[in-house]
Amino acid sequence: MLLGSHLDSVPNGGRYDGALGVVAALHVLLAVQASGLQLPLALEAIDFTDEEGTLVGLLGSESLTGKLTLESLRSPRGGREALLAGLERAGLNETELVLARRDPASLVAFLELHIEQGPLLERAAVQIGLVTGIVGARSFSLLFRGLAGHAGTTPMDARRDAGLAAAVFTVAANELVVRDFPGCVATVGDIRLEPGAFNVIPGSARVAIECRSLDLAPLDALESALLREAHAAAAMHALGVEATPVGRWEPTPLDADLRALVGRAASGLGLETMELSSGAGHDAQALAAVVPSGMIFVPSDGGVSHDPREHTSWAGCVNGANTLLRAALELSGSYAD
Ligand SMILES: [Zn+2]
Repeated sequence: MLLGSHLDSVPNGGRYDGALGVVAALHVLLAVQASGLQLPLALEAIDFTDEEGTLVGLLGSESLTGKLTLESLRSPRGGREALLAGLERAGLNETELVLARRDPASLVAFLELHIEQGPLLERAAVQIGLVTGIVGARSFSLLFRGLAGHAGTTPMDARRDAGLAAAVFTVAANELVVRDFPGCVATVGDIRLEPGAFNVIPGSARVAIECRSLDLAPLDALESALLREAHAAAAMHALGVEATPVGRWEPTPLDADLRALVGRAASGLGLETMELSSGAGHDAQALAAVVPSGMIFVPSDGGVSHDPREHTSWAGCVNGANTLLRAALELSGSYAD
């Protein structure tokens, strides 16, 4: 049985995202070893690399499950040079990553303890979150093409301002989700204007848009609606727009039996539980494709994450680790005979 998470982080990230699950997994193994218990199956602690996508995203977990292809390493989102440099630092090469595939028959389950990274557990004053699934996500790079020109001499009615279209799209995308897609989210995370100067009308605007949902049908519908909004924003200002898909992750339900088992483990420790979905991606979504996988959430103070203020109380960390231990022991027990 695999227990673990990831140790990589995002730029200017916090100390708990990923790391808690790896440290807790290690302590589960140490506790079992110290107790002298002989379990009918092997517990393994694992740290997956590059979960966050500084290089590729889910690089370690998709290597293990065999989903990683050499093709996907050709133009990784962090750039090919950064990937090759990172591999070299680790003493690896691309071919070896593909060889990291593990035979699913050698795994009975994967359990990942993680901070919630949102406010729901704290709001409900509940100690343990039983994760039902991980949202799917779609991301696109939109390129609005207008016409650069002199910011002083070009009349307002003679402009093809790519920056304006990007702004119109950003507002429209937000209104669309709030109005028509409850339970979904969409975010414009980056806008780059070219040439980018006080006195030049933007000739092009590159917009990073992503949307997420736990359910496939609304996710597909939202994706189409966002692309329609992009074309409408472009048409409004007589521009062209191209959409390049950047990432695509389908919603991933997690294992219901494992979730029930984790719930029993937490209740046995006297902890309150609630079910919730994960709005963030996790290694468990890669593992779920080949082995029953589950996630345990503990509260994040103020719901803050991907920020140095990220914090989970010591009691929260201990509750999570104890739940992980108890769930691992109970699952091992079911293999006893
Ligand atoms: Zn994480």
